[in-house]
Amino acid sequence: MSEFSDLYQDLILDHQKNPRNFGDLPGANHHADGYNPLCGDKITLGLKLNGEGVIEDVKFKGSGCAISKASASMMTMALKGKKAAEAEKMFTQFHDMVMGKEGAKTSDLGKLKVFAGVRDYPARVKCASLAWHTLEAALHDEKKVISTEDGEG
Ligand code: ZN
Repeated sequence: MSEFSDLYQDLILDHQKNPRNFGDLPGANHHADGYNPLCGDKITLGLKLNGEGVIEDVKFKGSGCAISKASASMMTMALKGKKAAEAEKMFTQFHDMVMGKEGAKTSDLGKLKVFAGVRDYPARVKCASLAWHTLEAALHDEKKVISTEDGEG
């Protein structure tokens, strides 16, 4: 982990040891499972959206490396109270950021910007983005199990 900044390291370790919003979510009306076979990261995400499309609550479960867990933990914190459309925008920004896309916007990401550093470590990009791909699947209720190996990034 020496390749990453201190702030990044502190946040990752904190959320790995003490993940926020971890567990089952009773009453969740959107679910998806995500899997990153390259690293072995697994995540199950439950979302509770109200009639206005606002994410009232979100929780995750799973096992995996520190980055996948910390990313999921910080994502759930950032999502509460957001509208589905805002969450989609954050997904796009996060994805563009970790993929190192030129001109990527990060204006809605807040603390999640610490993950910008993973763009230099391609093997870690999928660990960091797994939770977000799972969120995207959960919001659309498309596939119940997504894999980071199904498409790009
Ligand atoms: Zn991983």
